Amino acid sequence: AAKSAGGDRRTWFDPLMDELAATEAVLGAQLQQAVGRDELFMLYQPIVELPDGRFAGVEALVRWRHPEHGLVSPGVFIPLAERTGSIVEVGRWVLEQVVRQAAAWQREYGERAPAKVSFNISARQLQEPGFAGEVAALLAREGVDPARLVAEVTETAVLGTGTALDTVKALNALGLRIALDDFGTGASSLSLLVDCPAQILKVDKSFVDGVTTASPQAVIVDNLIRITGGLRLEAVAEGVETAEQAARLHQLGYRLAQGFHFARPMPGEDVALLFETAEVSRSVS
Ligand code: C2E
Ligand code: MG
Ligand code: MG
Ligand code: MG
Repeated sequence: AAKSAGGDRRTWFDPLMDELAATEAVLGAQLQQAVGRDELFMLYQPIVELPDGRFAGVEALVRWRHPEHGLVSPGVFIPLAERTGSIVEVGRWVLEQVVRQAAAWQREYGERAPAKVSFNISARQLQEPGFAGEVAALLAREGVDPARLVAEVTETAVLGTGTALDTVKALNALGLRIALDDFGTGASSLSLLVDCPAQILKVDKSFVDGVTTASPQAVIVDNLIRITGGLRLEAVAEGVETAEQAARLHQLGYRLAQGFHFARPMPGEDVALLFETAEVSRSVS
């Protein structure tokens, strides 16, 4: 696409743009039907304690198995769903799956079930005035303790509208924990830490990536743990891929981490095998 000093200049005969637009329209329509066609499924990625890798909770992550394209990343289809409006239906489906999974784990494993089940909420869902009420009804129906659920929201989504912040406050009032996701990468404003009720701050992978190097990212990771400590927030380091990163994070004072070094997102049944033993995988030292 032609991008000039004058900003975005898109000519309507640009064939690449037309092709992209067509793909977007087709994918958007297919996504609309994906829920009904049973093409979505959930995976759960463990969140662990440092340094011993003990199981602390899970984050629910949605997947779309497209009949022709195979697995489509939520990094692609969630933004698409936001643009086309199907996020409301997709989000409702995710919420239902997550709450039912949490209820099943609670029934079957009691104390050993994940203490915290996190799920992602999109900007659009936060703008639905009835959203918190829906969550409350679902939790009551399935008999799930709200304190077991963590609502992950991004800075950008919360800062979007007043309604979004009201929804976050309502969820928190119900007893859910609030996590600020991808912290530091959005329409970041530190005043969000003042205005938005949150108990957890997820430090974005892009910062964690640099934690073992002499880098601005490492300085940020180091100082965020002091900010979270001072504000009585739990910090979760996202996207931990190596033992060196895990060791350094522990040294800096991080107690919680998530990443491929410990475990990849996996089906609910596989998670159950992990919390039966309480050990996710490798410890740091
Ligand atoms: P997120 O909420 O920040 O989720 C963490 C993402 O990082 C997941 O990608 C996870 O698979 C990936 N990840 C975790 N550890 C590592 C690691 O060590 N290395 C690398 N390279 N990646 C790691 P995923 O599942 O592809 O999801 C991408 C994003 O899509 C999520 O980012 C979230 O913003 C969105 N998303 C996923 N599921 C849902 C959902 O159910 N609803 C909504 N609204 N958004 C969702
Ligand atoms: Mg998340
Ligand atoms: Mg994240
Ligand atoms: Mg992310």
